[in-house]
Amino acid sequence: MDIKNLTLIGTKKMLDDKELSARELWRALFDFAKKENKEIHGFLRFQEDESKWKGLPIAVKDNMLAVGMPTTCASKILENYQPSYQATVIDKLEKNGLGIFGKTNMDEFAMGSSTESSAFGITKNPHDLERVPGGSSGGSAAAVASGMALAALGSDTGGSIRQPASFCGVVGLKPTYGRVSRYGLVAMASSLDQIGTFTKDVKDAAYLLNIISGFDKYDSTSSKEHVPNYLELLDEDVKGLRIGVPKEYFIKGMDADAEKTVRNAIKKYESLGAEIVEISLPHTEYALAVYYILMPAEVSSNLARFDGIRYGYSIERDLENGNATLDDVYKISRAKGFGAEPRRRIMLGTFVLSHGYYDAYYLKAQKVRTKIIQDFNKAFEKVDVIATPTSPTPAFKIGEKISDPLTMYLSDIFTVSANLAGVPALSLPCGIVEREGKKLPVGLQLIGKHFDESTILRAAHSLEQAL
Ligand code: GLN
Repeated sequence: MDIKNLTLIGTKKMLDDKELSARELWRALFDFAKKENKEIHGFLRFQEDESKWKGLPIAVKDNMLAVGMPTTCASKILENYQPSYQATVIDKLEKNGLGIFGKTNMDEFAMGSSTESSAFGITKNPHDLERVPGGSSGGSAAAVASGMALAALGSDTGGSIRQPASFCGVVGLKPTYGRVSRYGLVAMASSLDQIGTFTKDVKDAAYLLNIISGFDKYDSTSSKEHVPNYLELLDEDVKGLRIGVPKEYFIKGMDADAEKTVRNAIKKYESLGAEIVEISLPHTEYALAVYYILMPAEVSSNLARFDGIRYGYSIERDLENGNATLDDVYKISRAKGFGAEPRRRIMLGTFVLSHGYYDAYYLKAQKVRTKIIQDFNKAFEKVDVIATPTSPTPAFKIGEKISDPLTMYLSDIFTVSANLAGVPALSLPCGIVEREGKKLPVGLQLIGKHFDESTILRAAHSLEQAL
């Protein structure tokens, strides 16, 4: 058994054919991952309870509630928090023969692009241990890329599945807003958040999407739109498919080698019979600014519930003699429990929502968001899929950007628009660039129409086969 290259579909067949028992599989993967994780640190914890070693093992980002294990969001404020209920996606995985192998590291509350803001230590990129795996789902990406996990779930609010997938050389899919229930996902920015997948190939992405998609009465934003069989639609070719390439996505400051790699991949589509069309998404230049107004606004509201009383870390018990006021408990617990990045965003969000600034920032950003949605609607009248780079650079060095938030935020420049518009998007490994003797993966982003995951999966599958 080649433990590092196991896929979900391939391994399922081995289990079904009784070539392998689930216990043998879990034992081998567990032993391998425990060792490998010492270096990579993609997992915060593993499923140690052997009675739960059942079915196909899958890793889950530590912002999804699974009963029996803590959910920390890589934050001190939720350290040791034991969920009392379970995310719908976890129920669905378990009902479909998958088991939770462990919880993966992330940027604190999914805020970041490098996994360096985790309160529990950094994750390293398996392709170069001096580099970040991307973020915020960096633990999930690194776990799959290193072979510690067959596949993983992540969440994507502004790129947190696609950017780490591109840095680690795996397939990362953010489905349409509403495609997958977010019940039991700790909310970051509720109008943008979506759960999605990390897999070693496109087929596994389709397989997992089949399992996790669909309406859920516990999530009022989940959609009743029909769920097709994503696997069945995979094998069609791309002849005649119209692929739009937006000129706004090839910008100054983009890594030249990465750009060449992405352009070559797009050229390859031509040789496969697709039609390449130059398009324009004219409001792209505002996307990052809009995101960094709307997202913090929603963050400031969603994170208000971590008040030092109902969940996790609290100074209540540290204060002797009962002199603390309720206000003290809120303030000090939050100040000590949250790291720098969540605190920065809570303050930004409170600011843009406050009286006197609301119209100038929040309301204005909402209007520009509508323009961005209209850009996509218009583009999709002309094309079936949009192809862009996933990120302007390959994986950067640990420490390179962490002290400069604005530079860090720029890594999301190509990914935030899909969240603002709610459309599905996928990152596919499309080549490598060499840096200091190391081979670093580059990702191609494929963006689709609302609820048209099938077409981006099919397009990704045919390029994957061709490459
Ligand atoms: N990197 C982006 C941010 O820091 C995206 C985060 C995410 O998608 N969760 O907000």
